[in-house]
Amino acid sequence: MEPTALSGLPPGVGEALEAEGVETLYPPQAAAVEAGVLDGESLVAAVPTASGKTLIAELAMLSAVERGGMALYIVPLRALASEKKAEFERWEDHGVTVGVSTGNYSSDGEWLASRDIVVATSEKVDSLIRNGAAWIDDLSCVVSDEVHLVDDGNRGPTLEVTLAKLRRVNPTLQTVALSATVGNAATIADWLDAALVESDWRPIALRTGVHYGNAIDFDDGSTQEVCVDRGEDATARLVADALDTEADGRGGSSLVFVNSRRNAESAARTLAEVTRERLTADERDRLRELAETVREASDADTASDLADVVERGAAFHHAGLSAPNRAAIEDAFRDRLIKAVSATPTLAAGVNTPARRVVVRDWRRYDGEFGGMKPLDVLEVHQMCGRAGRPGLDPYGEAVLLANDADTKQELFERYVWAEPEPVRSKLAAEPALRTHVLATVASGFASTRRGLLEFLDNTLYATQTDDERRLTSVTDAVLEYLEANDFLERDRSNGTETLAATGIGHTVSRLYVDPMSAATLLDGLREACASDDGGDSGAYERSGTPAADEAPGFGTYSRVDDASDDGETGGDGAAVGERVPAVGISALGLYHLVSRTPDAYELYLKSGDRERYTEVCYEREAELIGSTPSEYEDVRFEDWLAALKTGRLLEDWAEEVDEDRIAERYGVGPGDIRGKVETAEWLLRAAETLAADVDAIDGDAVLAVRRARKRVEYGVREQLLDLAGVRTVGRKRARRLFEAGIETRADLREADKSVVLGALRGRVRTAERVLEHAGREDPSMDDVDADHTAAAAATAGSGDGDGDGQASLGDFG
Ligand code: ADP
Repeated sequence: MEPTALSGLPPGVGEALEAEGVETLYPPQAAAVEAGVLDGESLVAAVPTASGKTLIAELAMLSAVERGGMALYIVPLRALASEKKAEFERWEDHGVTVGVSTGNYSSDGEWLASRDIVVATSEKVDSLIRNGAAWIDDLSCVVSDEVHLVDDGNRGPTLEVTLAKLRRVNPTLQTVALSATVGNAATIADWLDAALVESDWRPIALRTGVHYGNAIDFDDGSTQEVCVDRGEDATARLVADALDTEADGRGGSSLVFVNSRRNAESAARTLAEVTRERLTADERDRLRELAETVREASDADTASDLADVVERGAAFHHAGLSAPNRAAIEDAFRDRLIKAVSATPTLAAGVNTPARRVVVRDWRRYDGEFGGMKPLDVLEVHQMCGRAGRPGLDPYGEAVLLANDADTKQELFERYVWAEPEPVRSKLAAEPALRTHVLATVASGFASTRRGLLEFLDNTLYATQTDDERRLTSVTDAVLEYLEANDFLERDRSNGTETLAATGIGHTVSRLYVDPMSAATLLDGLREACASDDGGDSGAYERSGTPAADEAPGFGTYSRVDDASDDGETGGDGAAVGERVPAVGISALGLYHLVSRTPDAYELYLKSGDRERYTEVCYEREAELIGSTPSEYEDVRFEDWLAALKTGRLLEDWAEEVDEDRIAERYGVGPGDIRGKVETAEWLLRAAETLAADVDAIDGDAVLAVRRARKRVEYGVREQLLDLAGVRTVGRKRARRLFEAGIETRADLREADKSVVLGALRGRVRTAERVLEHAGREDPSMDDVDADHTAAAAATAGSGDGDGDGQASLGDFG
């Protein structure tokens, strides 16, 4: 089937596909066309990685647009949203507009209504529905990429409920679900009332095997000798072997999957020794340049470790990398400049980085709930293996698992090579998942009675799969009780049918897109903080379930809102931002600890020695913490409390301008993690700010305290720099240098001696001009201005951070 022969697409699309090298449709694509994907029919395509699922989605979306409709493409990872948007933007030449919806979870993204294709994560779509985005009603086609992720305990339920809502709003909606090969694709098709295209076809042959001793045994019965010398690393040998085996005139690159970030980093060091010896002079030059870019992209150790291996032609890839570095590695690997990458399994899915050889070095991963090393799912290992073989570049792909003994070799064949992937199972009938979705379903008007709610839930995969309907009902009832007890829902059983309505605060919580339990934790904490600040006499905030105010520590007497530098200069801070300094004694650490305690925050783990360390911190700073510290004998609760304190301390360090490197070292995390924690805290503090308005209706002090704590996290600065750091392009490090040079506020920037500004900004003319421009200075030009280096010197001495300009630092977020 040729693309030009397809009907129903915008004019010229067939020709454009042909020009891209799509001469004929792959068999699964042809099957999708036969099943009516161009005519608005729903479809589940369960086909292997790299066999052209994206084109199936494009055919569906483009034909929907040609019919005058609008399409939504749901991506499994936020990082993939812009990648997909860029991919679809090539259709703009054919009059198709594309938009991507990222960013905060509490807007309705109205502008997206004018786009033909919108790309978003399921969380984003869910939040758009909650915020009443009207354009959702106009959708005619929805694509769900990697739909097998409904099996994921954390994120699956959101995808499941979102698809159910979209289909409820528009019963004629075309639903196209793309899936890896799974054990029960027919069940998914049944759930979505869709035709099923299931296939094992791959555009390039894949051999899967196990290496043991001196050879790889493949599933097709063939054997390939790969001798590993005594003491030699088998993975390194396999990577070297692929590089030394020429096909299409070149050696093949490898992707190595390991089970932790640390292992990814150490494996990359070993692999770099292999790749280093196989580079041309030109490659060495280009890699040196790339390494420089990588090093400058972030001031943390991870970036510098990454640069060290990149220079030698290898890399590691995990969620701790900063986004620009991740993209740089992927691009260079696709360009075959980087020849070996070691990666963690989380990144196996979705990232389009094919390699000739895939080595699955670790097939077990530590799992806390499991209580030890747990074998990976077949589906996951198959997806890793599916990354092997680059169409048009490699004659074949090879996936190799590693065994140290004959028994393991046999086990690996049985467990993975010959095994069928597991069936996908809905994870909806769990309290945390239903808590949030039941509230949102009622708040957004999808159900107004208990029975209506259960009917709505009947459209989910869970209901399709289960034989035990009572389980969903009983979890739903438990959740309804919880939501009622926390005043998020009102239930009225007076006239026979139980009606449900979200309360005002319930609506707010649904729109804020936080777990109702997080909202309850925040509300309780804020009420308590306000009550104790008022000396405990404010009956207005007392409610059942909240510890009485007199049990809470006395915030009224302890005030640590201000800058911790104690340099005597903090008096004017509040005025600088043009806001009142809150009189209430809610400390930043108290709030950081509070948000870290919510189920929406991922706490840092306690490592060895941490229990003692944070027990000490806990008692030293107890007065600042909101709520009463659990007893040390309540093991689980106490440890949770300390883990949240550790996370809270990380945020506090960040807001105290501690260097990224030092934070990374102190808490054993990568820069990507710091960023993740900071973004989550910012989001939760934003939610807390809205909730505080409900609690603190009297003087708004709590709202102010939360806002300032949030801004400090957002900019990564102390109180005194809030005003300066809020100016675009300034960021935490430059703000500190300007401050030390005597420029303390945005207003100062408009008046200050330009040579001082330039000196504090290390003589960078363009930067200085942009800073002045954003501060609203009338004439920001630095023409003929000489930097005042005494200002620069003062700044350096004052900030204690003389190395690196920091303009690319995480603190500047972009
Ligand atoms: P999947 O989403 O199934 O993992 P992709 O859609 O990313 O796979 O496709 C893998 C590669 O195959 C892409 O580079 C794509 O351009 C190419 N491709 C898809 N369909 C065809 C086709 N019919 N002919 C040639 N190349 C194709």
